[in-house]
Amino acid sequence: MRLWRMIRATGRIAEPTPPRTASAPSAPRAPLGGSVQIRHVDAGSCNGCEVEIGAAFGPVYDAERYGARLVASPRHADALLVTGVVTRNMAEPLRRTYAAVPAPKRVVAVGDCARNCGVFAGAYGVAGAVGDIVPVDAEVPGCPPRPEAIVEAVRELTGR
Ligand code: SF4
Repeated sequence: MRLWRMIRATGRIAEPTPPRTASAPSAPRAPLGGSVQIRHVDAGSCNGCEVEIGAAFGPVYDAERYGARLVASPRHADALLVTGVVTRNMAEPLRRTYAAVPAPKRVVAVGDCARNCGVFAGAYGVAGAVGDIVPVDAEVPGCPPRPEAIVEAVRELTGR
């Protein structure tokens, strides 16, 4: 009962819904619409981007209220959220994961490493940026990107 009273007293803590930017420069081709299931792939991240994705889907930024949901299998997904530079060991798993997502599908490269290799450009274990391995529809800049930017990219997918 004490926990229940605390939950009732705390109430809703999510940020108010910000207005959507009309046309984000890195917006995907067209929203998938409604609800979108997303598979996250860590292709070689330092985990900084994962912390921000966790925040984006946490109670404060609450990306799920826009119809996005993280799922465990690419076969259940509509889109991939890929973080990190793609390491040699992750290049083939990323290709296979992309192939496992049913069409129509979207890929969002999250963070500077995913976009252009970031601080790991030229490192010996790097196969390339995400766009060198699979087609990318949208990019979220930043090292790491802010949760608001990740939520905005997710809203471009859902159209909500
Ligand atoms: S963009 Fe920055 S936070 Fe994200 S994986 Fe690369 S180094 Fe880490």
